[in-house]
Amino acid sequence: MNYTPCRIFCVGMNYAAHIRELKNEVPEAPVIFMKPATCLVAPGKRIAIPAHGHDLHYETEVVVLIGREGRPRTEAEARAAVAGVTLGLDLTLRDVQAALRKQGHPWEACKAFDGSAPLGIMAPCPPDLDLGRLAFTGSVNGVVRQRGHTDDMVFSIPALIRHLARMWTLLPGDLLYTGTPEGVGALKAGDRVTVEAPWCGTFTWTVEQ
Ligand code: ZN
Repeated sequence: MNYTPCRIFCVGMNYAAHIRELKNEVPEAPVIFMKPATCLVAPGKRIAIPAHGHDLHYETEVVVLIGREGRPRTEAEARAAVAGVTLGLDLTLRDVQAALRKQGHPWEACKAFDGSAPLGIMAPCPPDLDLGRLAFTGSVNGVVRQRGHTDDMVFSIPALIRHLARMWTLLPGDLLYTGTPEGVGALKAGDRVTVEAPWCGTFTWTVEQ
């Protein structure tokens, strides 16, 4: 579907098993960060390993598209604000993130660099599509590394949207990366990363040095 990307909201630590694998604690409220829309990478394009870090991790995530302006307050309003859904990668420089965490610094250097937001083609999101029952996979070189299901989220997609709407008026074209399940790992030059689900399709990116 056609849209002009507006802002990219992301949520960290939204699946319990992933929180455990990074040895973090389950947050009491959603952990929100942003990437500029210039980070988006279309399917089939190349992913470059940035020069300022070396441990580039894939994080396979369900991404929803906001279709209308507003500040949804109820679960129903939040669900109605979703116009599209697909899969994307929240690429993360894990070594840079560890250093930033230690210093208590913001995450832009590890999460919001150029090319950090590969994104699949948006599928329309009909009202009867249950956003709490979406299964998906992330693979590297044909081997499945991540098996996710939105039922395992700490904060559901409507809950995340209501949380965002307390701080921002949501706008058409806003994107929300909803967090990654367990199984994240490092990428190297030549790797092919694929995200896949029956409800959106299959999208692949290739890593270059
Ligand atoms: Zn993520």
